[in-house]
Amino acid sequence: PPDVEQLGRSSWTLLHSIAATYPPQPTPAEQADVARFMGLFARLYPCWVCAEDFQRYLERQPVRTGGRDELGTWLCEAHNEVNRKLNKPVFDCSRWQERWRTGWKD
Ligand code: FAD
Repeated sequence: PPDVEQLGRSSWTLLHSIAATYPPQPTPAEQADVARFMGLFARLYPCWVCAEDFQRYLERQPVRTGGRDELGTWLCEAHNEVNRKLNKPVFDCSRWQERWRTGWKD
């Protein structure tokens, strides 16, 4: 089975990068695509305990597809939920675009 940490880092990179390139004003089709993608991702993610928890998170906190910042903030909060579970530092979600899109200013 894949290394859970390596898989996780690569996967968060993919997911946050998708949010970073998501349109500020998505069409209904783009919103439907990203919602379906997250649902399928949560079912196919090849770390089964991770996938189960992520599916439950999606049920409690449905993906917010209204625009880039909304999607990125939702994803940051989802990532923070996993960070808390693993006792990793919680990330400041007001800075997700600096990390994943525009680059740090300092
Ligand atoms: P990662 O958590 O992989 O983060 C990578 C980089 O993202 C960080 O260096 C930081 O710059 C940035 N970052 C950190 N937090 C945020 C945030 N909130 N928003 C935006 N950017 C941020 N592992 C398990 O052991 N058990 C699990 O149940 C589990 N569930 C997972 C569920 C999903 C959907 C995914 C994608 C991964 C899951 N993982 C799980 C893996 C885990 O989240 C980490 O990826 C892994 O432990 C490696 O951690 P890391 O410290 O390298 O940083």
